[in-house]
Amino acid sequence: MSRRVLITGGAGFIGSHTCLVLLEQGHELVVLDNFDNSSPEALRRVQELAGSTQLTLVEGDVRDASAVDKAFGSGGAVDGVIHFAGLKAVGESVGNPLLYWDVNVNGSRVLAAAMERHGCRTLVFSSTSTAYGEPETFPLREDMPTAPVHPYAQTKVAVEQMLAALCRSGPWRVASLRYFNPVGAHPSGQIGEDPMGIPNNLFPFITQVAAGRREQLRIFGQDYPTPDGTGIRDYLHVMDLAEAHGKALEHLLQQPTPYSLTLNIGTGRGLSVLEVVQGFEAATGLTIPYEVVERRPGDVPRLEACPQTAQIVLGWSARRTLEEMCRDGWAWQQANPSGYRGPT
Ligand code: NAD
Ligand code: UDP
Repeated sequence: MSRRVLITGGAGFIGSHTCLVLLEQGHELVVLDNFDNSSPEALRRVQELAGSTQLTLVEGDVRDASAVDKAFGSGGAVDGVIHFAGLKAVGESVGNPLLYWDVNVNGSRVLAAAMERHGCRTLVFSSTSTAYGEPETFPLREDMPTAPVHPYAQTKVAVEQMLAALCRSGPWRVASLRYFNPVGAHPSGQIGEDPMGIPNNLFPFITQVAAGRREQLRIFGQDYPTPDGTGIRDYLHVMDLAEAHGKALEHLLQQPTPYSLTLNIGTGRGLSVLEVVQGFEAATGLTIPYEVVERRPGDVPRLEACPQTAQIVLGWSARRTLEEMCRDGWAWQQANPSGYRGPT
């Protein structure tokens, strides 16, 4: 059944892949994005890849009620909302917590208020595995306590709580998806992650080293209590994550109200930094030079999902391998050495 879906932050890394999946499934989309960390070119390519123009763009800020109203008013009734718009840099959130509370929390509040006004109370929200803080027992289940240790994670947990309260107050249906580490790109190499400046995250850093844009990878610490001493994360292919959004939205739309759901979205298989480097080398035939440096402040030794609830409730599990994550991320980097901004 074709749905009309409002996607905030739809031009970003995860949003663009989700737009592609939803367009390919025949849905009609309205994207609200202020291009703070993305480019309209991503949406042009998404439509080209999908062979669909069922996407209306409203350029604006999710904190601006009139922009959100405009998105709701740009066509027929909206069946559900997927809310990606937000900020995600841990270090930046420590230096500028008010910005994170404004964009992530106030932005979600303005969006939810607009949803009330327009009678649309079905929402999929981008939450994060960092909600669990520095856990000691694995794998992480959704009923384990949240203990966010930096403003970024704190704002995400605050929004989860605001949405849970809405579900207690009226006919809302909400899914908070706690993503682990999304990586890779669409296999076409046409859309992918486009970080500004020096990448913070492991995968884009590795692909830029592979491309010769950076000299070597710096591995942040080899003295963690893990088998090879480097940090462990649960990396998943961004296309698997995109598909989880389609399933979550459809699931919500079939539930009676109120309904509230929190789901881990990961593979359940943690990989160390060294295992990722080796996996990338095996998938591409390239060598990634690295040096081991000090731990990065704020990093936790290990995050690893128990993805069973998503499997049981949504029938979703991550299908793509580390090899595919590396191959597809590398194809995107090769085809777009400067991301969306430079010549391709
Ligand atoms: P991204 O930066 O690529 O995408 C976010 C999008 O939101 C961008 O297109 C940006 O321009 C837009 N945006 C930002 N502020 C906005 C505002 N005020 N109004 C309108 N649009 C705005 O990030 P992403 O990796 O695609 O992440 C999407 C969401 O998932 C974010 O909320 C992020 O916190 C969350 N998340 C990401 C990860 C990850 O590892 N990438 C992990 C867990 C959670
Ligand atoms: N990491 C690293 N070098 C880098 C970037 C990241 O060694 O240049 C490590 C980091 O310490 C962590 C893992 O790679 O153990 C994943 O980090 P990333 O920033 O990609 O994700 P997050 O910290 O959000 O889990």
